[in-house]
Amino acid sequence: MQHQTIYINLIHYPLYVLGPNKRVGVWFDGCSLGCAGCISVHTWQQKEKNKSSVAKIVEEVSQYDTQRVTVSGGEPFEQPEALLALLQALRDKGFNDILVYSGYEFAYLQEHFGEILKYIDALIDGRFEQNQESKEVYRGSANQTLYVLNEALQPLYEEFRVSTKRELQIVDTNQQLYVLGIPKITDSKELLNGTI
Ligand code: SF4
Repeated sequence: MQHQTIYINLIHYPLYVLGPNKRVGVWFDGCSLGCAGCISVHTWQQKEKNKSSVAKIVEEVSQYDTQRVTVSGGEPFEQPEALLALLQALRDKGFNDILVYSGYEFAYLQEHFGEILKYIDALIDGRFEQNQESKEVYRGSANQTLYVLNEALQPLYEEFRVSTKRELQIVDTNQQLYVLGIPKITDSKELLNGTI
């Protein structure tokens, strides 16, 4: 399965602002959901330059000093075969804290992608709704829900769930600046307008 094609927009380590503790972040390329106010518009269109193989991505992600990964996007579940192959391979490499953000709702994912959910320890679901500000830092809008699927990680994710300490990382990768993390909705509007 690792010869599987995959489109990845960005890999970044260390990541401190999307999930508990120090992690590696993997952002999928491509999303058809088109949420108004999305701060990841640059990931909507799948780009040829971001085409890779699951084997290469696994090699890169597993070189870092962490067994925690956050998968976001873009929309990971719009590349279901690649997502499954990636998560299976990361689990085989010893990753024991796999957090995935999806714009699809959990019930839909359970119905259509149960096999993939077996490899996910925590999932944050739901589209971004720009009129539903959330004070919790783990989500972009208040309609989104955190599901902790791995019982052993409940205490860790409970701390994450109630955290209101909002932080962002600004990183320079391949001569491009990225803002990582989830800004307040008011700040994200200013970010999109280029006024901060
Ligand atoms: S699901 Fe995420 S990446 Fe896709 S449009 Fe909505 S906020 Fe943006």
